[in-house]
Amino acid sequence: MKQPNQPGSDLNPLALNTWLTDFSHPLIISGPCSAESHDQVMKTSSALHDTGVVSVFRSGIWKPRTRPSGFEGRGEEALKWIAEVKERYGFLTTVEVATPAHVEMCLKHGVDILWIGARTSVNPFSVQELADTLRGVDIPVLVKNPVNPDLNLWIGVLERFFKAGITKIAAVHRGFTIFEKTPYRNAPLWEIPIELKRLFPGLPVLCDPSHIAGNRELIYDVAQKALLLDMNGLMIETHIDPSNAMTDAAQQLTPHQLAHLIENLDIPDPSAHTPCQEIEVLRSKIDDCDFRLINSLADRMELVKQIAVLKKECKFPVLQINRWNQILETRIKAAQLKGVNQEMTKKILELIHAESINLQTRDMP
Ligand code: PEP
Ligand code: MN
Repeated sequence: MKQPNQPGSDLNPLALNTWLTDFSHPLIISGPCSAESHDQVMKTSSALHDTGVVSVFRSGIWKPRTRPSGFEGRGEEALKWIAEVKERYGFLTTVEVATPAHVEMCLKHGVDILWIGARTSVNPFSVQELADTLRGVDIPVLVKNPVNPDLNLWIGVLERFFKAGITKIAAVHRGFTIFEKTPYRNAPLWEIPIELKRLFPGLPVLCDPSHIAGNRELIYDVAQKALLLDMNGLMIETHIDPSNAMTDAAQQLTPHQLAHLIENLDIPDPSAHTPCQEIEVLRSKIDDCDFRLINSLADRMELVKQIAVLKKECKFPVLQINRWNQILETRIKAAQLKGVNQEMTKKILELIHAESINLQTRDMP
């Protein structure tokens, strides 16, 4: 993960961007991936209304497709259907915008909230054009993370809207394209939204479990984890007939399934931030563990430096693959015996080993 810049003065007010607290918690945004027909939009929104769990109705009108032959959305015609949904059921509405023309059309048809898609967030030129179009307009903007795992780029999008005078901003975590294969369509890389929340504590962060999961089966677990990570809401795609959807058929839920999912979520109380006495006691033990870890690391690095001198004297190569293999095997085995996650142990050892190699090669030509 690329490290973001320290929050600059432009961004600091984002940390106080608490507008979403006016909504019920968690904010539930739902609706089809794409508005396909008047009938589909009306049936889906009517069923969503019956569930009573949704505050904002979402729908894609212009669809960014990987290949040009795919269904690219119904365009402005569908905005009339969205306006009808708002009128009939009282939902707030949100639509993805990618060009200034999209913004103008959404404003003309009374869309309440705009969202910036993951494929637009990657492009600062497009984002700046959208921000310039919105200058002087009081409308909330939801910013999906860019497809690539670059926190700084995501922050840049938030910053561009903020600088254009948009004060109601929220980030939407929808997962990232990574090289490794994972069970998800888009790897969650939870450490990225967590770091965003650390840098801008008041900034609302929502999760889009549909685009992370990519299939219906994984949505519940992703949604649950997002709420346990204190995210402010969920955007989940629903369709009256998901398996026949024109886009994202594998990941859409029926409105009924959505209601069932929401009912079964364990929802932490967002105001419960003062830890109880027992948590405090355990936390102070964790503090001790962490400082012991740091002391062990310091001792280890000191030994690494002493070995560096001897290796040089004996003309030993710094990297000895057998020794490295042995370190990995024995430590991972020890982790297994102690019930510690082996994958995590391997990652930590790799970081430590990389630093040890750095220390031993630092003054080499
Ligand atoms: C969507 O929400 O339908 C969408 C296209 O999302 P993303 O920009 O996250 O891919
Ligand atoms: Mn979709």
